[in-house]
Amino acid sequence: MEKQIAETEQNFKKQMEIEQQQIRQRMGRIKHKILVLSGKGGVGKSTVAVNLAASLALNNSKVGLLDIDIHGPSIPRILNLEDKKLTAFGNTIMPVPVSANLVVMSIGFMLKDKDDPVIWRGPMKYQVIKQFLKDVEWSNLDYLIVDSPPGTGDEPLSIAQLIEKPDGAIIVTTPQQLAITDVRKAVSFCRQLDMPVIGVIENMSGFICPKCGEKTDIFKSGGGENMALEMNVPFLGRIPIDPQIVNACDSGEPYIQRYSQSHTAKAFNEAIKPILALEKTSSLQKGDQKMRVAIPINDGKLSQHFGHCETFAVIDTQGNANMPLKRQDVAPPPHEPGLLPKWLHDMGVNVIIAGGMGQRAKQLFDQNQIEVVIGAPVDTPENLVSAYLNKTLQTGDNICDH
Ligand code: ADP
Repeated sequence: MEKQIAETEQNFKKQMEIEQQQIRQRMGRIKHKILVLSGKGGVGKSTVAVNLAASLALNNSKVGLLDIDIHGPSIPRILNLEDKKLTAFGNTIMPVPVSANLVVMSIGFMLKDKDDPVIWRGPMKYQVIKQFLKDVEWSNLDYLIVDSPPGTGDEPLSIAQLIEKPDGAIIVTTPQQLAITDVRKAVSFCRQLDMPVIGVIENMSGFICPKCGEKTDIFKSGGGENMALEMNVPFLGRIPIDPQIVNACDSGEPYIQRYSQSHTAKAFNEAIKPILALEKTSSLQKGDQKMRVAIPINDGKLSQHFGHCETFAVIDTQGNANMPLKRQDVAPPPHEPGLLPKWLHDMGVNVIIAGGMGQRAKQLFDQNQIEVVIGAPVDTPENLVSAYLNKTLQTGDNICDH
């Protein structure tokens, strides 16, 4: 009996490994995988996922959109695909094409009646998500955008683990305090899984009058941005309310395409710029790009007080060399607002690893195309650069008391 149990366990493990290998093979053909998350429902997460996918497709990327919102799959409704039936060849399921560059898969295509409630427990959800990754013929894609259910439950956890190394998550919120409180949980969830937060989008952020262009802040605005700054994650932008979003659903044409000249569509396009840049960054990182990293130091270790440090350790390295190559210590110019970003830019620095930093300084570095990593721990410059290059650098909150 014991032998039988051991054998069954072994076979089960083997089967799991085979399936994970199959997922790896499929996912290996997709360059970037991005999860769209939200702390709570109704904030426009699916709307953002659809328009993000459509915008990337319009920019000539090959895109797959996967809807794993098992309890409320809304992608088929937003794209007016509710009548579509899936086709399969053997074990392979074909995704539904929306345009030459965009294909979609949703649990909604598998439900007989769209009003049927889905009563599935954790293991069943896990199986169906696994099937979406393993058995859907995604082919070669530039991006897979995953619309996860709201919250930080089974589905986002399963997908993050099954994909193994997603590029990161986009967190959608509305400006109200309640939604923002939930976003903190989503950011913590990403941190626990070691998944980068690509950024926060504040949706339904004011209404811009189509006639006079005046903006009215219906729910107030700016809460998402303050929260992003406080949690030390990038803020991608504010998307205004536009009643036409609902009309776009009826037409089946993505809003961003149908109303491309509206304020809201333009805001969507602005917000996705960092995602388009992923493609550029990844090709740079894969190559032998030279990097110059600057770290503020006091007593030989990272100084929490950027701008008031004794010296900067300036370390040269190479994108594919996984370790620092050359270090020089340089005294900064006298403290004066706005001076450091220019000084570091003139020295050819393209990455800064810091503990805390004020918002204004961060903006100036962004303008100088210098990447800033904030919230790094107090450690030696060499350890920090090695961790950065090996993608194991742990960052916390932006602690800046200046
Ligand atoms: P979630 O996925 O977070 O539950 P949805 O994307 O389904 O939210 O959006 C909820 C509702 O809000 C939908 O009816 C959608 O059309 C609408 N909506 C989303 N974003 C906007 C916006 N910026 N302006 C107007 N309506 C919006």
